[in-house]
Amino acid sequence: MKTITITAKIKLYPTSVQMVILNKTLSVIRDVLNFVSAFVFGQEGIRYLELDHALYYPVRQQFGLRSQMTQSAFRTVLAKYQSMKSNGHPFSKVSFRNFEYDLVWNRDYSISCQSVSLNTLSGRLHIPFELKGMEHWFCAGGRFGTAKLIRKNRKYYLHIPVTLEVENRNILNHIVGIDLGVNHLAVSFDDEGNTRFFSGRAVKEKRAKTLALRKRLQTCGTKSAKRKLKKLREKETRYVTAVNHAVTKALISQYGAGTLFIIEDLTGIRTITEHVRLKSRYTMVSWAFYQFREMLEYKAALSQSEVLAVDPKYTSQSCPVCGNTTRANRNRKKHEFCCTVCGYRSNDDRTGAINIYHKGCNTLFAEACQA
Ligand SMILES: [Zn+2]
Repeated sequence: MKTITITAKIKLYPTSVQMVILNKTLSVIRDVLNFVSAFVFGQEGIRYLELDHALYYPVRQQFGLRSQMTQSAFRTVLAKYQSMKSNGHPFSKVSFRNFEYDLVWNRDYSISCQSVSLNTLSGRLHIPFELKGMEHWFCAGGRFGTAKLIRKNRKYYLHIPVTLEVENRNILNHIVGIDLGVNHLAVSFDDEGNTRFFSGRAVKEKRAKTLALRKRLQTCGTKSAKRKLKKLREKETRYVTAVNHAVTKALISQYGAGTLFIIEDLTGIRTITEHVRLKSRYTMVSWAFYQFREMLEYKAALSQSEVLAVDPKYTSQSCPVCGNTTRANRNRKKHEFCCTVCGYRSNDDRTGAINIYHKGCNTLFAEACQA
C-alpha cells in the first residue's frame, strides 16, 4: 500500500456575474498577500501566531476579508517565504503577481457532481466545472487537500490535490519517474521530491570523439574501412551497455525493493526525434533507450520492483505547476524549462521526469478506481 497525491486541474465555467465576484475576490486576495508579504519581509523569521497577532485586525478592516481567508493568506505568504528558504534562495521580498487563492477543503470549497462550491468575498458560489478524463481522480476514497483557484487568460481553474491509498501493483516504498535523454542520460524524480541526475556527457563526448573517424571510414568504403567501422560500432555498443548497466544498477540500489519506476514508452519515432534531432544519432540513441528499459525491467523484477511505461506525449512541454503545455516552455539550448504562463523554472530534463512521475501516478489512480 502506498499513498500518492496528484493534482487535479479542473476548469470552471462561471457565469458573468460569478466572474465579477471571482475577479474581485482574487484581486483583493492578491492585494492582501502583497500587503502581508511586505510586513513579513520586514520581520525576518516571524511565526504564524505573531503574524496573526499583528495583522489579523488590520487586514480584516482594511480589506474586508473574512476570518478564514485572512488566516489562509497568512499561511500562503509564510509558505512562500519558507519554500524560498528551503530552496536555498537568499532572503528577499516575495511579490504575488498572479491571481491565486488557496481554499481549504470542506471549509472554503467542496465539490459535487454538478458544481464546485467556493467561498468568496460575496458568500458561496456554485460553479459548474469540467473534469474531462479526470473522473477517476474523484472516485471513492480520495482525500482532497488545499486547492488553489487560479485565473489565467481570463479562464478559471481549480487545482485540487487528491490523495489516495494505492493497493495495486505491490508498491511499498517509492514511485520514481525517469526521463531519458542525451544531455542527461537519465534524470529521476521521486515521491519525496528528490531529483537525481545521471550525466550523459561521457557518452556524448565519446561519441563526438569518434564521429570524425567514423565519417572518414564511411566515405572510404574499402574492406578494411568497413571492418574498422564495425569494430568502432561494437566498441561503442559495449560502452553504452556498460553505462546503462551502471545507471540502472544505481537506480535499483538507491530505491530498493518495492519501487515503481515510471518511464516513457518510446515506441513512437516522434518522441525519439524529440529527444534527439540529429539523424545520425537516431539509431544509436533509440537502441540505447530500449536497452535501458530492458535492463531496468529485469533488475526491477529481481528486487521485487516494477517498471511502468507511460505515454510520452507532451512530457517535455507541460508545466508541472499550472499545466500550460507549449513547445515554447522549453529552451533546448539552455537546457531550461520556463513556463510561459506561470513562470515556473527548472532544468528541462528534471521537468520531464516530474511530468513522467505524475503520469505514472495518474495511471495508478485509474487502476485503483477500476479495481
Ligand atoms: Zn506553469
